Amino acid sequence: MRRTNTCGELRSEDIGKKVCLQGWVRFSRDHGGVAFIDLADRYGITQIVFDPEDVPGETDVNSLSNTMRTFTRESAVSVNGIVRKRVDGTEDARNPTGEVEVLITEAELLNRSRSPPFELGDQKEGVLPNEDTRMRYRYLDLRRTEAIQAMETRSRFIHLIRQYMVENGFLEIETPILARSTPEGARDFIVPSRVHPGTFYALPQSPQLFKQMLMVGSMDRYYQIARCFRDEDSRKDRQPEFTQLDMEMSFVDSKDIQDMIEGLIAYVWKGLFGKEIDIPFRRIGYTEAMESYGSDKPDLRYGLKFVSLTEVVKDAQYDIFQRILKTGGMVAGLNLKADVAGERIGRNDVDRYIGQAKKFGLGGLTWMRCKDGKLESNITKYFTPEILDAIKQKMGAEEGDLLFLIAGPWKSTYEGGGALRKRLAEDLDLIPKDEMQFTWLVDCPMFEVDPVSGKYDVFHHPFVLPENDLNDAYVGGACFDLCLNGNELGSGSLRIHDPELQREVFRKIGMDDEKIQADFGFFVEALGYGAPPHGGIALGIDRFMSILLGKDTIREVIAFPKNKKAVSLLDGSPAKVEDEKLEELQIMTLAIEGMDFDDLGSLDEE
Ligand code: ASP
Repeated sequence: MRRTNTCGELRSEDIGKKVCLQGWVRFSRDHGGVAFIDLADRYGITQIVFDPEDVPGETDVNSLSNTMRTFTRESAVSVNGIVRKRVDGTEDARNPTGEVEVLITEAELLNRSRSPPFELGDQKEGVLPNEDTRMRYRYLDLRRTEAIQAMETRSRFIHLIRQYMVENGFLEIETPILARSTPEGARDFIVPSRVHPGTFYALPQSPQLFKQMLMVGSMDRYYQIARCFRDEDSRKDRQPEFTQLDMEMSFVDSKDIQDMIEGLIAYVWKGLFGKEIDIPFRRIGYTEAMESYGSDKPDLRYGLKFVSLTEVVKDAQYDIFQRILKTGGMVAGLNLKADVAGERIGRNDVDRYIGQAKKFGLGGLTWMRCKDGKLESNITKYFTPEILDAIKQKMGAEEGDLLFLIAGPWKSTYEGGGALRKRLAEDLDLIPKDEMQFTWLVDCPMFEVDPVSGKYDVFHHPFVLPENDLNDAYVGGACFDLCLNGNELGSGSLRIHDPELQREVFRKIGMDDEKIQADFGFFVEALGYGAPPHGGIALGIDRFMSILLGKDTIREVIAFPKNKKAVSLLDGSPAKVEDEKLEELQIMTLAIEGMDFDDLGSLDEE
């Protein structure tokens, strides 16, 4: 028996044809001796019928009937038969093969399936078993239509990326998986060398240094669908290994790189959805993004903008604000307009949001409501009528509007405000679901200064080209992030190509010359051989896919993901290795007796 068609192919034009289908028994039912089977494969589902009363003369009904009895759920089977029209009224308009069925003349069990641990038929969300069970048997989970669609779309997505990159003269070049550590702000996974005991490779957090050295090596336009590895503590929706589109270009400015990415996204959009996308994307500066939306990856699909009140309230005799402003903090307000939200948030809801302020990362939350032309609340008594009026003006507050006020240190308070803004938008259903808002975050700082220790750290990574003198009070970095609907899809930058400037940046973040030499000597040396001006970007493919497909987690778009505790329940990794292997590597472990695999498995609520 050789397959003539897939389970997604047959239509009414095929009626009368003899076919052979092979696939999995998704569902079977018996109607008074007539057996119906939903035969499934990657391409679709076809109804198969075994009707003892209605088989061609030469068929051995008994043997066929015996074979059919072995067709347990999810077994791999092969059937020969004749395509016929379904009985009037039993067509399934939702299924492309739903007008026809295949009347079986021969059948073979190819491989029997054990009873599957969960139902694979198309089920509504919430009915599916918990994620750990699905991931433990991911090879079965992958048979679900939704999982198949995710894998297919991802494959097409990557194919389109490759086409575009090749059309634009990029070379696909692989960089090492075993290498020296590349700092991207997380911990490295390290791999011991057996040949050189006591030394280690690191798995790349990204191909950053190698792609820059490819530019030194004249490769000019490089890209790679690169696997990256970061040993981070469990964080929502992160994976220890993930895939990014990594690229780098020589002799370019920021706009060249952004144009290339916009072109890529437009190309992929057309290819995936047959639709045009508006380019160029919107650009928003880091400070504006933070001060308006409380986020460096602002979701611009809805309003709810913060307005600074620092100037307006600076003379108000309200202790809390005074204390905050004296230490360089800020005060800002969010106006929930009466028609959008103000009237839907009652006094109790206001208290509930105040109660959650700490969870958002806010020191506190205050409110005012515009009633009978005046601002009212439990704190308005601390403000003069002039100041209240100024707040009202600045916030554009009108009858029934509700104002939320946040105050505190600039960064953490705006970020907390951003979390509140998101929660409000979700609660009030203000987020248009089908809209895709791509935005470039630009004008970022080069460094972040720790408010307590005064220590400098890089805002993005230390290879970003500073935009002005490193001794200036504010140093900008030539970096840019691509955001989509409140998510960061990726970041890019122009890079430093002058070895001395690279050393200065390392020094600025507290490295001494010895450490620079030890960690990055090879790299700075490479820059010294005529490194061209260059820059690049990396886009997270897992995240991008999960947003495009409307999935809650990137795990749904990864064939074999780890769970939230970085465990693969399917193959049981991470796992212990035999003592002999460790001895060979001259590694001793502090054995944790009694720790068994199940301890690693279960998922915590987020
Ligand atoms: N290496 C950076 C990252 O993985 C991206 C880049 O700057 O190209 O975030």
